[in-house]
Amino acid sequence: MTKSNTYKAGRHFLSVPGPTNIPDRVLQAMAFPAMDHRGPDFQNLSNNILKKIKLIFKSEDPVVIFPSAGTGAMEASLANTLNEGDKILMFETGHFATEWCQAARRYKLNVDFVPGDWRTGADPKIVEKKLREDKNHEIKAVLVTHNETSTGIKSQVEEVRKAIDSTNHPALFMVDTISSLGSYNYEHQKWKVDVTVGGSQKGLMSPPGLSFNAISPKALEAYKKSNLTKSYFDWGQMLENNKGGFYPYTPAVNLMYALNEAVDMLLEEGLENVFKRHKRHADATRIAVEAWGLEILAKNPIERSDSITAIMVPDGYDSDSLRKIIYDNYNMSLGTGLNKVKGKVFRIGHMGDLNDLTLAGTLSGVEMGLKQSGIPFKKGGVMAALDFLSK
Ligand SMILES: *Cc1c(COP(=O)(O)O)cnc(C)c1O
Repeated sequence: MTKSNTYKAGRHFLSVPGPTNIPDRVLQAMAFPAMDHRGPDFQNLSNNILKKIKLIFKSEDPVVIFPSAGTGAMEASLANTLNEGDKILMFETGHFATEWCQAARRYKLNVDFVPGDWRTGADPKIVEKKLREDKNHEIKAVLVTHNETSTGIKSQVEEVRKAIDSTNHPALFMVDTISSLGSYNYEHQKWKVDVTVGGSQKGLMSPPGLSFNAISPKALEAYKKSNLTKSYFDWGQMLENNKGGFYPYTPAVNLMYALNEAVDMLLEEGLENVFKRHKRHADATRIAVEAWGLEILAKNPIERSDSITAIMVPDGYDSDSLRKIIYDNYNMSLGTGLNKVKGKVFRIGHMGDLNDLTLAGTLSGVEMGLKQSGIPFKKGGVMAALDFLSK
């Protein structure tokens, strides 16, 4: 926290869609001396985490954990499976899909980036059409951002899987779940995803700094033939070391303490309960937005994310001014509009460690900020949400 001359009483309200609020139990778990990462205590901890984390991905495939931002695991998914010049299919659902596409292009992959309006998800019909037309199987992978954090759009991963299956096309299927994993349902195994990308600082309630790849047997086969350069993110050395619970380099030991605790908490609450809680808070948020008379960026109700809602401000108003009013007056951070939607939307993160009153606080801050900003809106969004939550 930077020092300022004026103390702001009360807790800062962190309502951005990641990093999310870190529970006290997780913070306390980190406040523990670092340990020998080549010794038996670390081995125990690490084996334990590598086993438990599979429950979160709903998979028996190995999950590797990198000490890196989520972007590292996005890069790893490409570098470990593909070959220079490979054609891949991606969808412009927003900023994070665009980032993944740019990483792929830096790796000299030939990306068919289906343009989008940042208001809709990956279209399974287009997947089916493109794969059906690709008689020579030039498309090597289909990549989808499950929860597009910049726009609040949930792509229908299961439907995309069905579309791929309907064509019998052998393309790999890779999914970025950085902001959906641990917030709403995701099934690495059942949906036959080959590489799932994850990150620690969103639904997993841990500090930023760990990223994940869940790796299917088919992805491992692709790894053996892949000629893209990789070193730090090489799966081979990681999986080899992981067999004993170890790492090819110093793992982020204290972040592993945090992750271990956070995964325990998710499992204690029960994943299905965690998902229900997120759905309820997403519904309450959407009810508030509707009562305010504002528009949700995600066009199709079925594609509205259960972990983050991006809300449009009317033409002629600036969402960042609203965010500033709320930050200055109510000590709350909301997500900014990224890239193409800069100034046009603000984002409420409702993922991770939150309850009804946390959300009520967030929505109250938004409603007070709206009033001060001069943005035309209808009062009563908070009351509508409270009504829903107290039913
Ligand atoms: C947050 C996020 C990222 C980027 O993660 P970093 O840890 O900032 O690298 C990528 N994809 C999605 C969907 C995200 O939500």
